[in-house]
Amino acid sequence: MNRSKTGEELDGALDTWILNKRRELIEDIKTLVRIPSISAAPNGKYPFGEPCGAVVDSMEGLIRKHGLGVKSYDYYGIGALYGKDTAERLSSNSIGFFSHLDVVPPGDGWTGSPFEGREQDGFIIGRGATDNKGPAVAVLYTLKFLQDQGIVLKHGLYAFFGCNEEAGMQDIAHFLEVDNPPAFGLVSDSSFPVCNGEKGILTADFVANLGEGNLVRFEGGTVSNMVPNYASVELRGIGAEEARAVLGSDFTVEALEGSGQPGGALVRISARGISGHAAFPENSVNALQKLAAGILKANLAQGDAVPALTFVADSFADYYGEGLNIAFEDELSGKTTHVGSTGATREGKLIIGINVRYAITSPQEELVERLRQRGAAYGYTLEKIHNRPPCYTPADDPLVIALNDIANRHLGTDLKPFVMGGGTHARRLPRAVGYGPERRDIPSPFGPLEGKAHQVNEAVSVASLEEAIHIYVQAILKLDELLS
Ligand SMILES: [Zn+2]
Repeated sequence: MNRSKTGEELDGALDTWILNKRRELIEDIKTLVRIPSISAAPNGKYPFGEPCGAVVDSMEGLIRKHGLGVKSYDYYGIGALYGKDTAERLSSNSIGFFSHLDVVPPGDGWTGSPFEGREQDGFIIGRGATDNKGPAVAVLYTLKFLQDQGIVLKHGLYAFFGCNEEAGMQDIAHFLEVDNPPAFGLVSDSSFPVCNGEKGILTADFVANLGEGNLVRFEGGTVSNMVPNYASVELRGIGAEEARAVLGSDFTVEALEGSGQPGGALVRISARGISGHAAFPENSVNALQKLAAGILKANLAQGDAVPALTFVADSFADYYGEGLNIAFEDELSGKTTHVGSTGATREGKLIIGINVRYAITSPQEELVERLRQRGAAYGYTLEKIHNRPPCYTPADDPLVIALNDIANRHLGTDLKPFVMGGGTHARRLPRAVGYGPERRDIPSPFGPLEGKAHQVNEAVSVASLEEAIHIYVQAILKLDELLS
């Protein structure tokens, strides 16, 4: 090994190094958080819209500032290269970090602006702070530290920062068109110790004809991977006073223009829920379900609106597959989860989008058939089925064991590798695991409804990022030693 320092010596050196770098690290994260980089439609040279272009330019500036090599991926993302020959070795025998710079929409209910990068009690708060800009900067500092220490590695080392992770993963698809996959990939978009598997992800639309009924419009949810916190419907033939009287204070009722038209009064009813990540729906409240159930309970739906809304009320009353008759679970990955994430009316049809994270051993063919049957019972057809199969690296893989030990040693924990419902770049790579930087063993100081990925007041702990850099440095040394 061509190294001047042992892992232990490096760990000690990192303590001092990080202390001197802390302010700069915080400012670098805030620079990225201030860009509202929600992955969007192509715009000129930007495949995911201008804000994602801006975040790539900004990250390129940080990579250059820290003296690392830059690799362009035509605004699908940006690469940071370690050492002189990583560029040549990218296509052969490298260790790759994978993070993303795109974010989900902020939603409402934030304290202050979601794109301000506010600091509070050791946290940076803002959309994307922990998912995934803070961790991306931690990875960048890992490479920077190794470079400052003059560490020579046998393998190439790089970091890829994508811009479409939350909205279709075209970023990693582009990466794999340009470069070969790494010998081993570390995805910094998970929790410690090691996430060695991801559940399958199935998305689909349930579509019902509204032909005969009083449901004119239904709207709620903007993206597939979030539990919606707002939904509204427009019903014909119902007066606002009447609706208010039967619905109670949990719903907002407005009389709309067009009342007095054929068919009678038009009223808009809306409900608020609590948003959450589709893969971790516990503690969220689905506004689509709440609204449909409320309207049915108040007997305000008529004709075809009744089965259409009953489907929404029944299907999304739980998160564990019961409502869609797909409640598979196994020891490796736990329960299947499901959410109804979007609702919309188009051309006389009600379209309900679902997002299912199914247990690794679920029978995939049967899953789709069960969904079809469930929908049919309420007059729905199943369309736009998109299945991303699960991925799994055995927990007894020597590299998984080594990475797990490093994380446990640094965190003072005794945790086992785990499988999660979240979908990351790891599932697109032949050999990769999720590796931090979140902690599964520590509850969020913001409570169950705030502070985490996809939630309001999303936050990242600076101390946990510093801990992650310690772990990442040791992981690189270990992988460099263990990989052929
Ligand atoms: Zn993420």
